[in-house]
Amino acid sequence: MIDPGERKERMAERFRQIYGRDPQAWRRAPGRVDLMGSHTDYNQGYVMTMTIDRDTWVAAASRPDRRVAICSMNIAGCNEFSLDELKQPLQLPASATDWTSYVAGVAWAMGADGWPVSGFDGLVHSTVPFGSGLSSSAALEMAVAALFEALGGYRVERLRLAQLGQRAENQYVGMNCGILDQFSSVMGQAGSTILLDCRSLSGQIIPMPPDLAVAICDTRLERHLAGTEYSERRAQCEEGARILGGIYPQVRTLRDVSAEMLSRHRADLPEVVYRRCKFIVQEDQRVLELADCLPEGDRARLGELFSASFAGARDLYEISVPAMQAMHAAMSAAPGVVGARQAGAGFGGCLVALVENARADTFAEYVSQAYTRSTGIQPNVYTVQASDGAGRLA
Ligand code: ADP
Ligand code: MG
Repeated sequence: MIDPGERKERMAERFRQIYGRDPQAWRRAPGRVDLMGSHTDYNQGYVMTMTIDRDTWVAAASRPDRRVAICSMNIAGCNEFSLDELKQPLQLPASATDWTSYVAGVAWAMGADGWPVSGFDGLVHSTVPFGSGLSSSAALEMAVAALFEALGGYRVERLRLAQLGQRAENQYVGMNCGILDQFSSVMGQAGSTILLDCRSLSGQIIPMPPDLAVAICDTRLERHLAGTEYSERRAQCEEGARILGGIYPQVRTLRDVSAEMLSRHRADLPEVVYRRCKFIVQEDQRVLELADCLPEGDRARLGELFSASFAGARDLYEISVPAMQAMHAAMSAAPGVVGARQAGAGFGGCLVALVENARADTFAEYVSQAYTRSTGIQPNVYTVQASDGAGRLA
């Protein structure tokens, strides 16, 4: 991992090259990983989420003309736009938009919510990998939102800030994501995970046992779900909730469905919808069980919960791909593993494991070799620590 002092110096140097002056304000926001709870957020269910110590930094110097110039050290192509000409574009698929639309989208969402946004020259640098389910997009949005706060000298209520980031991504970038990523990036706390209730939008801090490490195992297979697969799953969940809501008036989303209700009305649901619902209902339950057993670090229970989540993602929600299965096999056989499951939305990206702290290095070595042997791909395996949410640099 890059040393923070060196990172700051490199960014300042690049900033001076581009803009011919020093940056005045710095803000950061972390990426995140889900320890449990895939696709539960848009069903208003539960997620066990954790920020990671990979984050996005933005360095900026204000300018008086209500224009934003923005460059990234991760992606080519700077952009400049006027804060007075931000128009919400038609809903485009995220793949059709330029990366700077995340920045413009945050400016648009904050401005539309009544917060003063002012112009700046800015430079972004991230250590969150893109498109692998660790929420680089939310980290970018929340770092930029924190920057607008800093430049304007105000502080938006935390949940509101997360919602504005989500609105930027939903309505400006055109990606129909839930609140999970932005919420985590804003609310994170060093050393802890968060049990997020996606209906009440409240989070409960759950401490990580000190003898367990969280390992990210990146398949290095980029996700390809921006469009169809993700919205198809959402639509299937909504269909299930609609049908069950016709039977049980209290059912608004799958959050309100119990395992018992689901099995009793299996025949009322199309087969594929039933399988999708079953996964979500069980996954919600697993999140609550994880919140219960994580602090004591009950190894047997943790292992079962993680395995069941992986199997459900593969067999019921069908968001797995062969490389993710190869990774899971490697992780499950590795020394020190406590539990392994898919993270993020699926179809590539990362898996996540709980690992005995003392054996984290051997775990990583073993997984890398075993995965490369079976797929020919060199993965990225590393441990992460929960970091604080969006704000100043540490
Ligand atoms: P994820 O959020 O899982 O990483 P997304 O597809 O939602 O994947 O977001 C990734 C996109 O966010 C990138 O393709 C890019 O457009 C934008 N992005 C995120 N961080 C940066 C950055 N530091 N510089 C430029 N673009 C970024
Ligand atoms: Mg994203």
